[in-house]
Formats: sequence, C-alpha cells, structure tokens
Amino acid sequence: MKVGIPRALSYYAYYPFFETFFKKLGIEVVVSDESTKEIMDMGIEDTITDACVPLKLFHGHVRNLMNRVDYVFVPRLVSVNREATFCPKFLGLPDMIVCSIPQFKNMLEVRIDLKKSRFELFKICMKLAMTFKKGFFRAYNAYLNACYSLNNYTHQFLQGGIPPLGIVGQKKNNPISLAVLGYPYILYDPYMSLDLIKKLISMGVYVVTPEMISKGEKEKQVGKLKKNLFWTFSNEVIRAAYSLFENRKVDGIIHVTAFGCGPDFIVDKLMEIDAKKHNMPFLTVTIDEHTGQEGLNTRLEAFVDMLKIKKAKKEAALA
Ligand code: SF4
Repeated sequence: MKVGIPRALSYYAYYPFFETFFKKLGIEVVVSDESTKEIMDMGIEDTITDACVPLKLFHGHVRNLMNRVDYVFVPRLVSVNREATFCPKFLGLPDMIVCSIPQFKNMLEVRIDLKKSRFELFKICMKLAMTFKKGFFRAYNAYLNACYSLNNYTHQFLQGGIPPLGIVGQKKNNPISLAVLGYPYILYDPYMSLDLIKKLISMGVYVVTPEMISKGEKEKQVGKLKKNLFWTFSNEVIRAAYSLFENRKVDGIIHVTAFGCGPDFIVDKLMEIDAKKHNMPFLTVTIDEHTGQEGLNTRLEAFVDMLKIKKAKKEAALA
C-alpha cells in the first residue's frame, strides 16, 4: 500500500506528522517530486487563472502522484486551534481538486478540525488507521510517534535556528540579518520562492523565518491587533513581524507573498504600516508563475546593499 503526499501547501508545516504516522502503520509514503516548471504547468492547466500560485502548484503535485500510488492524501485543513481557521482554499481543497481533475479517483481525504475537541487529532488518526484496517494499538503507537516527530521538527530543528528543509550554511555572525516572512509553502519551496532564502544566505545574510521564532515569542504579540486575523498562517506571519519590530533582532524584513492571495492583501498592508512606525526597512516580494530570477536577484541585492550602507553609517556615527 502506497500513500502519496503532495509536496505543497500543508506539506511544509505538517509533513513530519503524517510521514511518521503512515510509516508506523506500515504504509509506504511517496512524496511528489520537487516542484518544477512541468509540475507548475500541469497545475496551471487544471485551475482557474485567478487561483493563487500555491494552489496551482498543489494541483500539479497531485497530477505528479496520482498514477503511481494507491491514494493521494488531500487533507481538508480547517483548524489546528480555537482562534482561527485556515484560508478558504485549504477548507475547500478536496472539492476543488475533484472538480478540476475529474480523472483523479484515488483521493484520501480527511477533515482536520482540531478546535472541536482535545482528542480530535487522535480520533482522525484512528479513523485513518481503520481505512487501512490497522488495529488500535498499532494506530495509537503511530499517533504517538507522529506527535513526537512534529514536536521535534518544530522545537529542536526550526527553533534551534536552522531554516527548514535542508537550508543550511548560514552563520549567526553574518553582517546583515533579515527576516523573510511568508507562508511556509511559499518560503520553503525552492521553485516557488525562486530559492530566495538560499540566495540571501549566499549574499552573507543571516535569515530568520517565522518558524524560527518561538511559539512563546509569537504568543506575546497576540494583543497587538484589536482582533486576531481569521487565518492561522496569517496570524503566525503577523505575530512574527510584531515580535521582530519589538525586539529589533533583524536589520530588515522581506515579506514574500503569492499573486492572487486574498489574506495577504491585509497582512502585507498591516506589516507595511507597522514597519514604517518602527522605522524597519521593509520589502514586499510578490511571486507569480512568471516571476523571473533576474528581476528578483536585482531587488534583493539592492535591498541588502541599502541595509549594509545604512548599518555602516549607523556604526560610523556611534564610533
Ligand atoms: S493564504 Fe493565500 S497563498 Fe495561501 S492558500 Fe490562501 S490564498 Fe493561497
């Protein structure tokens, strides 16, 4: 039995949980190939023009997997806490996929709505295990291991200062530190983000991403907005920004957003306004399927050069 997991959207936040869970149940896990132009083009063919780029890419990843596994895992991610839900694209994802790819018949769909009760995730896992005719003890063991994996990934790895998914090689004493804020499925997909994080690291920048800021740090920022945003990932991003404005641990912020993203119209504006108030250099990078590497490199280089000059002037004034 093989279950395919598309390398897009929730993969970048919750993959360690589901990989461990399925493997411990004795099911082979196949992840779709790394994003490429071909995968993106397949997604573009299936989706409407106005859909956001991450959603288009998800469709391409489903196509990449659907003929080589028994099931493709497509979660309907509703909530993981009581304060917010995921963006409507996550809520309607299985329906959209079924409508856009009529020949896709092997979807494994689960509704993940953890605000219902403390035991919801456990119940979901039991239900999944029953689909594969696995017994209670095996399922329970798989669930515990999956929780451990996710916890380990979040706390030891991300909050240990290492950007996710093998982006290594940066030094804490780099002359410029920059926060790169955005949703994990944009930042950590090298194709979608045009390898922006690696590019910055190669320019001698120390990069901080929202996942590298501790949960406690972000929770301290909860009261900053009169009202929480409706969407889980958006709250993560905006709280990471507020924490950075407050602690001034970085020299500037880059917000990476996707063309066609509804929630980011609000998130980007809120951050831009507050960045001005805190005198924090701020750059918005909007990515769509046509964004070119050269144009992005020029913008990044100009931003980093500007920060270096600013920092040198400040240090000279203090000397
Ligand atoms: S939050 Fe934005 S980028 Fe993410 S799925 Fe929703 S619309 Fe797309």
